Parts: sequence; structure tokens; C-alpha cells
Amino acid sequence: MSKKTKYSLCIHGGAGVITKEDLSNKDKRLITADLEASLAAGETVLNKGGTAIDAVCAAVEVLENSIHFNAGKGAVYTRSGQHLLEASIMDGATLKAGALANSKRIKNPVLFAKTLLNRDDVVFVSGDSVDVLAEGLGHSMVENTYFDTSFRKEQWELAQSLSDDAIFLDHSNLKMGTIGAVALDTYGNLAAATSTGGMTNKLDGRIGDSAMIGCGTYAKNKTCAVSCTGIGEFFMRATVASTVSNLMEYGGLSLEKAAYQAIHEHQAKLGGDGGLIAIDAHGNITMPYNSQGMYRAFVSERLNKKSVFIWDKEEKLN
Ligand code: ASP
Repeated sequence: MSKKTKYSLCIHGGAGVITKEDLSNKDKRLITADLEASLAAGETVLNKGGTAIDAVCAAVEVLENSIHFNAGKGAVYTRSGQHLLEASIMDGATLKAGALANSKRIKNPVLFAKTLLNRDDVVFVSGDSVDVLAEGLGHSMVENTYFDTSFRKEQWELAQSLSDDAIFLDHSNLKMGTIGAVALDTYGNLAAATSTGGMTNKLDGRIGDSAMIGCGTYAKNKTCAVSCTGIGEFFMRATVASTVSNLMEYGGLSLEKAAYQAIHEHQAKLGGDGGLIAIDAHGNITMPYNSQGMYRAFVSERLNKKSVFIWDKEEKLN
């Protein structure tokens, strides 16, 4: 592989109701520091000539290990009070993909998803066999209580006191925090990864968009790499991630227009709430959302620019 392209990396730490009044300066500092550490981990890989796949894994792994995000440590609680983890990854060069759902014990689900890229017999594994397979492959395994945090427990207790319909309709009040990354490496290859605990108080066994290729995650060198966050049911119904790619490939839209349309028309018109990060083969980046905020950050070698954002919908990158 010869190096020719300038690298770019973009990450998110979830969308939802993130108001300036609710977010303390201390939390803002801690969350910003985690996003910066994640960006640095991914950028180090790209800077050394590593692949987009390794970069998105490195970036996501940092956030899976942080208590501030709803993925890995800090994942939300299901209706029965446990954590069921989901993740997916896609390689834009080969269109190979890996995904898992309902893992109880994999410390870093994104790393297990990555191992599935090497297989032709399976893309998506769910249930108890995920943990059995991961353990057999030597992944780092933990007890389900490892994922506990007091913040997510309080959210869960609040959700349990509401009716199931109320939780769904007003889910935006339960701050989310799914994580994802998209990258363009110096060989011109794109990759995307997403990891989550799902929705607070989700039905045990419910699988969201973050685990589904084409819904929460998609990558194709010809078009773009996408990672989504928001109420998964709407992202699944609108197949948001692959819609961005299809609008580019078959509709001739630019990355920015395709991503805007997928979020603000396809997803929002169904009643959804959330956003996405996306990158194309030229290193263009876009991060539209229709929720009140979305934790996100990017680094672009071409623009020689690095930034972390929570609000400020209007900023232009390209
Ligand atoms: N999309 C995730 C899900 O529905 C949640 C999120 O992005 O916060 O499981």
C-alpha cells in the first residue's frame, strides 16, 4: 500500500438533550478530555501509517473505557437491570463488516466486532454465543457489574418509574452517549465503527441501529464512512447510514447534502432524534444532528485543524 492521502478522523460521543444549563463545567471538562484522548489515539494510528480500521478501533476503545459514555464501562441498564452491549464496524475498502449484540461480558465490544472482519461465514453475532466466542478468541472479559456506574443507575431508576411508552416518547431526556468513529487513512481507505449499551431501560434482547450495518454504521470507499447516534428505531427504519452512501452514489449528492438529508428528512420526518458523523474519500467531514446537542470532534490533516464540539450546529468545516 502506498501512502498518498491526507488522513482525517471524526468521533462522536452521542446525541440527545445536552443543555448548557445541565452540563456542569466539570463534566464538560472531563468529557472534552475523553474526546481529545480518543481523537489522539486514533490520530496516532493514522499518523504512523496505520489503517482506518485500526484508527476507528483505537478511538472507540478509549471511549468504551470511559465512564462518561454509554458504551463499554458506563453502558446503560436494560429493563431487568443488566448491561447488554452492541457494536459494529465496517471496512470501506473491502465492504467487510462485523457486528455483535447482547454481549454481557466483552470489555471492549469494538475489538470483537473487528475480529469478525476476517471471517466470511458471519457478519453479526448475538446472544450468549458472542461471549463464548470472544472468550475463546482471548478477548478481555469482565463481569457484567464492571459496566455499572451510579449516573446510569440513576437514569435507569428514573426510567423505571415512568411507563414504558413515556420512556420511549420522552427518551431524549435520558442523556444517551453512544460512541462512534469514522476515518480516512493515508492509503485512501475509509472505515466506521459504533459501540453502545443501547437505550436506557431497553427491553432485554432489543437490538438497536448501532449494531446494524447500514443503519448505525456504514463504510464504502466509493462514497463515505458513517456512524450514527440517536433513537435507534428511527435510524433502523430510515436505514440512515447506508442512505447517506446511496444518496451520494446513486443521487450524486455531496457528503454534506446526503448526510443532512438522511438526518433532517429521512430520520427526522419519522419522528426521530439524533445525528451522525461522516467522512468521504477526500477527507470532507460533516456532523449533522437534529437533537439539542451531540458530543463530537474531528482532526483533519488536510485542513490542519482539530476541534471538539457539543453544540454550535452552524459551524462549517469544508
Ligand atoms: N442508537 C442507540 C440505540 O438506539 C442509542 C444512542 O445512539 O444513544 O441503541
